[in-house]
Amino acid sequence: MADLPRVGNAIQAANRRRLQELESRRQARVILNPVEVAGKYSAARMLTTTLGGQVRPITPQDLAAFRKAVANLGKKVSQGITAAEALGLSRPADVQRAREEIRYSMVVRLQAGKLQLVTNASAQSRVNRHHVTVEFVQYSAALARPGKPLGAAMWLVKETPLRFECDCEHFRYFLRYVASAGGWVAGRVEHGYPKLKNPMLAGACCKHLVRVMTDLQQSGGIRQRIANMIEADRQRIDAPGKARPKVFTVSQQEAEGMLPKRARTIRVQPYQRRATLTPKATAADIRLAMAVYAGKTDAASQAITRALAALAAQQTRP
Ligand SMILES: [Zn+2]
Repeated sequence: MADLPRVGNAIQAANRRRLQELESRRQARVILNPVEVAGKYSAARMLTTTLGGQVRPITPQDLAAFRKAVANLGKKVSQGITAAEALGLSRPADVQRAREEIRYSMVVRLQAGKLQLVTNASAQSRVNRHHVTVEFVQYSAALARPGKPLGAAMWLVKETPLRFECDCEHFRYFLRYVASAGGWVAGRVEHGYPKLKNPMLAGACCKHLVRVMTDLQQSGGIRQRIANMIEADRQRIDAPGKARPKVFTVSQQEAEGMLPKRARTIRVQPYQRRATLTPKATAADIRLAMAVYAGKTDAASQAITRALAALAAQQTRP
């Protein structure tokens, strides 16, 4: 791949982008503050959301309710979401764009449970790369956990909650707000309401994050780097005196060596924690619905019956 980024440049560029973002925010009129939202601006009413499972216009009341629900769930939600959940919460359009346009991500820097990655940008983009930060919320637990570093790394990428951010405009103007409300934002917390530009205030991942969440779960190279970081930090805990966590940078050659020959397949499961956000179906309702479809032989009805049976089976689990 001729257009691979230089790793050294990527780290500098990430820092530069962060400063630019702060500066542009200082001058920005793209972000509305919450008081403006509650009052005269109609942008709020035109935004749509898939929160609650249906695409419909979002209102300030929706967001207030969403925040309240998040607050009620407490630490469970404020501690981030797993990579699989983040993918499951993403809009199909962004998943599709990632499949078509974002071929790779590369990890370039790791320190104390925090990863910096770069992805390619789409052909239409004004920039060449995008910079993504991922933080492992349970990193301390991974250090304390018994077992080999590679096992702990596997646990972190597959099962534990993350916080993340991307430097693209989609994330900056929309998803940072959603991520802040949902408690999975890395870096700056955005409480200002986004003014209309893209009509959807929905999803968790931009197309770059969709790629990163996929590679994070699947790449053996990334996992090995995380294991190295865990090993070093475990040693640091055992040998007090070295105050600063070790910084791991990935060389150009290593980074290229970690890239798969073909882009990894993006797989999306439905968001797994939705059941905690919306009321569960009662067993009686499920039985009733199954009775309606019982005996029907067309493919659609049979699929519905299977889905209902799966739902019923879930409920019997402790
Ligand atoms: Zn992005």
